[in-house]
Amino acid sequence: MASDFHVLAPDFRGYGDSERKAIDATRGIADLSDDVVALLDTLEIEGPVDLLGWSAGGNVVIRKFENAAEILQLPEQAIFNCTGLGAGKLFDDPELIPIKGQLSFLMPQPGVDYNLLGGNQYMFVRSDGIALGGTYSKNEWDTAVDPVVRDRMIAGHQRMFDGMRRLQGSTTHPNS
Ligand SMILES: Cc1cc2nc3c(=O)[nH]c(=O)nc-3n(C[C@H](O)[C@H](O)[C@H](O)COP(=O)(O)OP(=O)(O)OC[C@H]3O[C@@H](n4cnc5c(N)ncnc54)[C@H](O)[C@@H]3O)c2cc1C
Repeated sequence: MASDFHVLAPDFRGYGDSERKAIDATRGIADLSDDVVALLDTLEIEGPVDLLGWSAGGNVVIRKFENAAEILQLPEQAIFNCTGLGAGKLFDDPELIPIKGQLSFLMPQPGVDYNLLGGNQYMFVRSDGIALGGTYSKNEWDTAVDPVVRDRMIAGHQRMFDGMRRLQGSTTHPNS
């Protein structure tokens, strides 16, 4: 193509060496087409241009839907409803109820590379922290951290480890 045309292959903003500028996704691809026009103006290219595109990527738009009718106004042909608990209000579904769970996180600790499950307690080790759980409160909408639950959960894990330490201490080594 380069033998017949003067070819320009600009990267969209945020890609390659192009400027890291935010895209206003509510404008569809208008920001991107404006960029192309601005580039042609800057290069003082006049006259007809053959425009070819290869992947404009995807857009993310964050917005709140008040009801199902608003969702159905979307121009998209396929819609996936992943609104979690919000789906109850959106689709007038009284059967959808919350179950609140609360976690506490400890800083990562070298040597703690195992998980524990016992009774209604669990400890899951992740690279960014140690998750202690768990609680299970049916029909609880309040998402605030409950400090009483937090303290109880941490104390419960302390008791579990204290118990293991005691067991370890009472174990007699066969060679001793
Ligand atoms: C304490 C606890 C520990 C857990 N641990 C694990 C675990 O270790 N592993 C695991 O796999 N799962 C775990 N889960 C479960 C997991 O978190 C959930 O299953 C998962 O987050 C559900 O994802 P979702 O995208 O379906 O819903 P959500 O994460 O609830 O996302 C729903 C989205 O829809 C949006 N929304 C709702 N209503 C509207 C509206 N009207 N308009 C626009 N947007 C709306 C919300 O803002 C939200 O962003 C845990 C849950 C809890 C509570």
